[in-house]
Amino acid sequence: MKIGIIGAGIGGLTAAIALQQNGHDVYIFEQADEIKAVGAGLVLAANAINALSLLNPDLPVESIGQWIGGAYILDQNGKVILDADFESAESVEGNQNFAVHRADLHRLLRDQLKPDSLFLNENCIEVQAKDHEITALFASGLAQTCDLLVAADGIHSSTRKQFWPNSVYRYAGYTCWRGVIDQNRLKKPITRFSESWGKGKRFGLVPLVNNRLYWFACLNAKQNDPEMAALTPEKLSLRFHDFHTPVSEVLRATHAVEMHWTDIRDLKPLQSLTHKRLVLLGDAAHATTPNLGQGAGMAIEDALVLAKVLYDHAQLDPALQAYVRKRQLRVNKVVQMSRQIGAIAHKTPGWLLPLRNALLRLAPPSQKSLGWLYSTDWY
Ligand SMILES: Cc1cc2nc3c(=O)[nH]c(=O)nc-3n(C[C@H](O)[C@H](O)[C@H](O)COP(=O)(O)OP(=O)(O)OC[C@H]3O[C@@H](n4cnc5c(N)ncnc54)[C@H](O)[C@@H]3O)c2cc1C
Repeated sequence: MKIGIIGAGIGGLTAAIALQQNGHDVYIFEQADEIKAVGAGLVLAANAINALSLLNPDLPVESIGQWIGGAYILDQNGKVILDADFESAESVEGNQNFAVHRADLHRLLRDQLKPDSLFLNENCIEVQAKDHEITALFASGLAQTCDLLVAADGIHSSTRKQFWPNSVYRYAGYTCWRGVIDQNRLKKPITRFSESWGKGKRFGLVPLVNNRLYWFACLNAKQNDPEMAALTPEKLSLRFHDFHTPVSEVLRATHAVEMHWTDIRDLKPLQSLTHKRLVLLGDAAHATTPNLGQGAGMAIEDALVLAKVLYDHAQLDPALQAYVRKRQLRVNKVVQMSRQIGAIAHKTPGWLLPLRNALLRLAPPSQKSLGWLYSTDWY
């Protein structure tokens, strides 16, 4: 089958590899003139790691990934609210989580593509969907007709907007900065993943391989706030002045070019993920807030499932129906749960913070309660 993919992000690249492995004739089109890796670090939870090993058991994820054996949730003074040990008896068997630099993961995936199947500088501007074929039109003048088109063009997918004009973004109420720095700039290296929760703000520290540190900072704010867009690392550190050490130190050690800003949004769940011979994948289909660390994981799973249903079904229509059946409930659950975690972290009023923290200490959500997420049932 001839398959076109719009977007060479994590979802599009994984889909291209999985579909090529099954013998399909796959072309992937990316609007950028190079595969950029904005967004710094990424946590790949156990399900994402399992999916990558289904893609290729020899994929050297360990070589680019920092293994995460546990995580702390702290209050803004650095006091432990929750100490999650992913290795403990509570944890799900085979629960391996890794933190990676996005650029490293892109490189790893890109290296798995068949030669001459990736086309950069190709901005898809329109899709013409017929019953038995589909054509993508590009700003360059290229027109590509395929049996199936995969829209993996991210949360702002123009392909989705064309066929799902009523799809709705939901601003989560908080905005986020991310950066990766060399740990040598710090007085003491950070060795454990932690997230510190204050009033309407959060700060995360995630060690990466090669002595690098990924950090993220989330703050309640208006959407598209020019004041937030203008914050430098120095000014951001003032917003976190009441947080424990080394939060300010990390921010002050970050160069302005190393910091990336994004308003946090998700996509209201769609009624369907397919239209004729067009299929949505990854953020284009179900962008989620990052609170469960699952956006990329869900995109990778989508890619594996799409390849599997096309392998299992001789006809395209039942294959696409199976894709929707296998993906929709799971991704909607992730989107919903991730929003809820964000609301607990960001919307609890100041006077309720001690109660929130006490309740989390008394009844921590166990790794087992996330068993549905980390198991391989989705495949
Ligand atoms: C702050 C933050 C933290 C996150 N942390 C995590 C985490 O820890 N773990 C995790 O699993 N996920 C995380 N995510 C989510 C994760 O980044 C995304 O879910 C994931 O990157 C989605 O991949 P994708 O391939 O679907 O889309 P994208 O990565 O957005 O890729 C889409 C690609 O399509 C291209 N494109 C767009 N339009 C066109 C067009 N018209 N023509 C051609 N090409 C086009 C784009 O240039 C881009 O390369 C986080 C997200 C945010 C915002």
